[in-house]
Order: sequence, then structure tokens, then C-alpha cells
Amino acid sequence: MLGLFGGTFDPVHFGHLRLAEEAISHLGLSSVRWIPAGQPPHRGTPQVTPQQRLAMVLRSTAKNDRFFVDSAEVDAERASYTVETLARLRRELDSTQPLVLLVGADAFAGLSTWHRWREIFSLAHIAVSHRPGFPVELASLPHELATEFADRHQLDAAALNVAPAGRIVTFAMTQLAISATQIRKLIASGKSARYLLPDPVLDYIQTHQLYKSP
Ligand code: ATP
Repeated sequence: MLGLFGGTFDPVHFGHLRLAEEAISHLGLSSVRWIPAGQPPHRGTPQVTPQQRLAMVLRSTAKNDRFFVDSAEVDAERASYTVETLARLRRELDSTQPLVLLVGADAFAGLSTWHRWREIFSLAHIAVSHRPGFPVELASLPHELATEFADRHQLDAAALNVAPAGRIVTFAMTQLAISATQIRKLIASGKSARYLLPDPVLDYIQTHQLYKSP
């Protein structure tokens, strides 16, 4: 069972790394494929280039032999949508292999705004990790997403292994109230972001003078 973890990673931090690491043990994944976004459709232009965000993800994941990095979205000329990336992976991989899209609770709550979002359920499962400040509960989800969640939610992660796609599970990870926004703000105001993200990533940020302006 392969985990797929997309994000802006602007920059990658320990919240992301623990999410991927704990997903492997909670869900029984063989590995996690990290997929940094190219030009994210959901947000303004990030302060650093897609190649720099990719470089930071490569540095932070290099020593984990269950982490792999997929640069296709960064390499693409235009914005990539998750549904298209999943369709590409489906073409590349065995059609019966379960694929598990990993998302934090905040990202999941926005799922019904994603391009062709309902098709995602025919391509992959979704595993939602708890994140401080973002409860995973039906009442806080938009109606159409709450309906899908109610229909597809499974309590036991073992349910993911017996179908290629279409199920939703939640998992409790170590709660780390770290965000890339907070890290960018700290660096822009000259404060320390140390111990919120791996040292090699911080070194890269310093060498390339990233996030200096607010
Ligand atoms: P920003 O602050 O710039 O919005 P972010 O820290 O939320 O960034 P993203 O790259 O947008 O990071 O997130 C990628 C994925 O990681 C999303 O699914 C998000 O929910 C999840 N995620 C990010 N930080 C955490 C965290 N501290 N705990 C759990 N999940 C997280």
C-alpha cells in the first residue's frame, strides 16, 4: 500500500515529516511518495521557487528509505491538480494497488473545492491526520463533503488494504502545532525557526536567503 503526500511544503517542517512517518505505521504503508506542488492552484505565488521547495523536501527525506520524492508537479510547466496526478499514478502503477492520499484535517476540510474532487475517490483512498485546531467531525465539513465522508469512512485502517480506492480513514498523529506560515513569519521577522524543521532545511533557507521578506 503506497501513501501519496502532496503539499506546498513552503517550507517542509516536522509536522509534515511526522505525518508521513506516522502514516506508515498507523496505516501499514510500504512507503510514502512525497509530491511537492508546482504552481499551487489554491494559493498565491509562494515566495520561493518550486525547485527550491523540492530541494528542501529532498534534503529532509533523504535519510528515510521509505520516503520517495516525485518531482513531476514541480517539473510540469503548468499547475497540476491532485486528480490529474492521481490519474497519472494509476496509469503507472498496478490498477489493483491501494493508493492512499495523505492529508491533514485542514486540507481535507477544503477537499470539495478541489478540481473534479469526487473523481479522487475512484483513484485513491484518503487518510486524514488530526491537526491542532482542525477537528475532524461531520458538523465542521461542508455538506457535500460530509455526505461522502459518512458514506466512505472506515474505523479500521485495514479496510484500505482490500480495495484500491474510495475509502476514508482518520488517524491520530503526534500533535504538532507547526505551520509553514508560522516558519515564514519567524524568519521574516528575524526570529529563530530552529527545531520546527530539520537543520539541513534551515541551512538551505539561510544559504539561499529565503523568506526574508514578509
Ligand atoms: P501553510 O502554513 O503555508 O499553509 P502548511 O504548514 O499547512 O503550510 P502544506 O504544505 O500546506 O503545509 O501542507 C501539506 C499537508 O500537510 C496538508 O495536508 C496539511 O494539512 C498537512 N500538514 C501541514 N502541517 C501539519 C501539521 N503540523 N500537522 C498535521 N498535518 C499537517
